[in-house]
Amino acid sequence: MDGSVYTGSVLVGADGARSKIRQWMYQDLDDKRLLPSSDKQPMKCDFICLVGITEPLDPKVCPPVKDTKAVFTIMCPNNEPQTTAVMNVPDNKVAWMVIANPTDFPPPQTYSQISKSSPTYAIRSAWGHDAASAMSSALKPTSVPYGGERFGALLEHTRSDKISKVLLEEKIFKTWSSGRVVLLGDACHKLYPSGGQGANQAIMSAVSLANLLYQLPSNRLEDVETCFHTYRAQRRFQVWFASVLTKVCTYIFSGKSRFASLTRYLILNKVPNWMVRLGSNFAAQDRPQAVFLPFVNDGGNIRPYHQSQCFQRPMASLRPAAV
Ligand SMILES: Cc1cc2nc3c(=O)[nH]c(=O)nc-3n(C[C@H](O)[C@H](O)[C@H](O)COP(=O)(O)OP(=O)(O)OC[C@H]3O[C@@H](n4cnc5c(N)ncnc54)[C@H](O)[C@@H]3O)c2cc1C
Repeated sequence: MDGSVYTGSVLVGADGARSKIRQWMYQDLDDKRLLPSSDKQPMKCDFICLVGITEPLDPKVCPPVKDTKAVFTIMCPNNEPQTTAVMNVPDNKVAWMVIANPTDFPPPQTYSQISKSSPTYAIRSAWGHDAASAMSSALKPTSVPYGGERFGALLEHTRSDKISKVLLEEKIFKTWSSGRVVLLGDACHKLYPSGGQGANQAIMSAVSLANLLYQLPSNRLEDVETCFHTYRAQRRFQVWFASVLTKVCTYIFSGKSRFASLTRYLILNKVPNWMVRLGSNFAAQDRPQAVFLPFVNDGGNIRPYHQSQCFQRPMASLRPAAV
């Protein structure tokens, strides 16, 4: 934003959920009446989230910080509106996250002068320091237990500059590219965080796009457009599957209806573990490697499902792009 000008053959918009590049690209397509109506709709936002990290805690007071493994615990009390997740991290600290419905933790009164349809309202009510403080104050009396204490005690040990409030938005956009401009990660596929897929899918999309760009036969517009269409075709199903998985996880862990409680109970207590893992295994199986780097032996409990088409060809047959 300093006025610098750069020239290139392609522009990759990896600038997050509120992507400026997507906004410019969509405006241009809309002016030409080429933007699908679904891409004009705002992202869905049914949840808000407060995240933070405590100061180092005394292991005598909070024993879980001594654990040498990071233990991720999710607590979904039926009698309180929020879902709380906590995890011990290095230096005796605890990282925590609270997910709730926006109506249960409305933004501070001072925002009432700003029109609800204004972008300023959305941004300030989600990201503003006041909004984070208001939500953390409302959460202090909660009864959620952790390590012999209440969650409120963790909040007491968290500096206010280590707390952020985030709108949890969700949308897979239909249009991922136009001409020489292409979108990547949250800019075109924004997922709920439950299920831990957003960054994973962004990285997979980056690898897939980089592999295709590496093999671009020329920088003619037709080749660039084919490359971008192939990229979307390669990623679309996996991203869609991840979005279903994250929606189901969000519903199971944050839904507050009776039906959600029953589903949560059945999934966590009655459905066998191997069945629960099927979904996350499938989401993690498609992990292409960069074809222009030495192949690494892919370890881990979940075996890769398949490599990208380009990887199946020997390295020698791959040529760097003529851009
Ligand atoms: C609470 C929470 C928990 C999450 N947990 C997980 C998890 O466990 N596992 C997982 O896989 N994912 C998780 N995610 C999702 C993950 O954080 C995102 O999917 C991921 O960060 C998307 O990466 P990105 O590069 O597409 O966008 P971003 O990480 O948003 O990066 C975009 C970058 O572009 C920059 N930028 C934006 N506009 C401009 C501009 N105009 N000029 C210059 N720079 C600009 C931004 O500053 C930023 O650095 C979580 C998300 C949240 C909110």
